[in-house]
Amino acid sequence: MPVLLTLGADLGSTASKCVIMQDGRKIAAQTTIPVGAGTSGPSRAIAESLAACGKNLADMHMVCATGYGRHSMTDAHMEVSELSCHARGAFFLFPKARTVIDIGGQDAKVLRLSGGRLNNFVMNDKCAAGTGRFLEVMAKVLEVETADLAEWGAQSTAPVSISSTCTVFAESEVISHLAVAADRRDIIAGIHKSVAHRVAGLVRRVGAEPLVIMTGGVARNAGVRLELEAAIATPISVSPLAQFNGALGAALLAHDRLLQQL
Ligand code: ADP
Repeated sequence: MPVLLTLGADLGSTASKCVIMQDGRKIAAQTTIPVGAGTSGPSRAIAESLAACGKNLADMHMVCATGYGRHSMTDAHMEVSELSCHARGAFFLFPKARTVIDIGGQDAKVLRLSGGRLNNFVMNDKCAAGTGRFLEVMAKVLEVETADLAEWGAQSTAPVSISSTCTVFAESEVISHLAVAADRRDIIAGIHKSVAHRVAGLVRRVGAEPLVIMTGGVARNAGVRLELEAAIATPISVSPLAQFNGALGAALLAHDRLLQQL
């Protein structure tokens, strides 16, 4: 039987992710581009992944799009919601996962799984607090790269309190802390606590049943993960593929569809 190639593209609000899989088992290529739907990000992510494994889009047996901008991908054979893709990706990465905390650029979701099936979920997509956007806004004010926040925050000795949940007010609070020469590392640690506090509220609504895993780009920030572990009093597992989880799930669901058609 020939190798079945499937491509999953996650056209997120903030970043574009692509995963190419062989036979629904092996990852042949993965690419993330830090700009999302409506930009050149999706086509660049797909082109880079195809180039990395020396293939063309026509070589893909099934292409599945997911994410905020999935409807704009005309080359896709199928479109699937982010929730289904995150559930499928999580089951591949951590078959025992029961709770998935996905923090992306513009929303945060908590999924409850049972044997890889989605049983329940809660979502915050109304407000930037507790999302990657909140962290990006704060990183900009603090003149720090988003990717470096965790390292800075880990050096804090006395985290400041950020009491506003609203991003705009919290940004003003950060500016006030800077104005009185508070240590940036302590402000960053306070920001991580603020995101964790907000997301922990969502987690409590579905319950933090182990195994708890974290997905989405913010899972790359160990500072947020550690604060979230403390807030929900439960260990959280993170895969190095956390940000690819949606694209990975899309590639796996594309493979599932191929198998149904055989
Ligand atoms: P979406 O799918 O909504 O586009 P992602 O799940 O890709 O979002 O997450 C994007 C967020 O991930 C960014 O807003 C940023 O906060 C965070 N992020 C991305 N890369 C890194 C990194 N290297 N370190 C820490 N955080 C990161």
